[in-house]
Amino acid sequence: MPNKKIIIAIDGHSSCGKSTMAKQLAQKLEYIYIDSGAMYRVVTLVALRKGLIANGKPNVEKVISELKNINITFKWDEVEGKNTTFLNGENVEDEIRQLEVSQNVSPISTIAEVRAEMVKQQRRNAKNKGIVMDGRDIGTVVFPNAELKIFMTASPEIRAERRFKELTEKGDKISFEEILKNVQSRDKIDSTRAVSPLKKADDALVLDNSNLTRAEQLNWAIAKAEEIIHSK
Ligand code: C5P
Repeated sequence: MPNKKIIIAIDGHSSCGKSTMAKQLAQKLEYIYIDSGAMYRVVTLVALRKGLIANGKPNVEKVISELKNINITFKWDEVEGKNTTFLNGENVEDEIRQLEVSQNVSPISTIAEVRAEMVKQQRRNAKNKGIVMDGRDIGTVVFPNAELKIFMTASPEIRAERRFKELTEKGDKISFEEILKNVQSRDKIDSTRAVSPLKKADDALVLDNSNLTRAEQLNWAIAKAEEIIHSK
């Protein structure tokens, strides 16, 4: 049976479990996994550390000039069973998930030059296909020819509830309302920005996981991928 390597693009709203599913799908298929959101989070972290964001507004020129100093890499952590993000060799995985970064990442990701640089790096990873990438513009801009495109969503309340659990389990002191507000505001900025807004690619399959378990949605995605991989 033919067994070709494909590109799988997973896009969708904030906090709907894209990364979890993308990671598991990549593991199952023995593909590379790239979390494109982590890349925008790293740029945001650098901007915050350098004091380049004031009252939610980034200093665009200075952020752009920082791009040349940012090298983003990923490593699979065998012990923790998760993907870890590095900024110039420093493990920043936990820091980029904090609320301060979440609250500032959407304005950073509206900067066209930031997007151009991230897209360039994202495409570099896919030279040999066999990749699962999740984000907002993967099926529309980064890999418009991806063989499988999935657009994931769930209601804002369900997404905020899941994020709330995740962060409080880690020990973060945070309110549900704050998280819901963040989820809604990121949806709005991501969907209405001028450059590469979040939208479903015409040929993407929609996966609303409001009432699905992780295992159910993963099985659905594996079946879709295998159908394509084993087709002529
Ligand atoms: O996926 P995650 O929620 O970690 O992404 C963080 C933010 O990065 C998103 O809210 C969005 O503003 C931005 N992003 C983007 N394009 C992508 C991935 C993420 O603009 N491909």
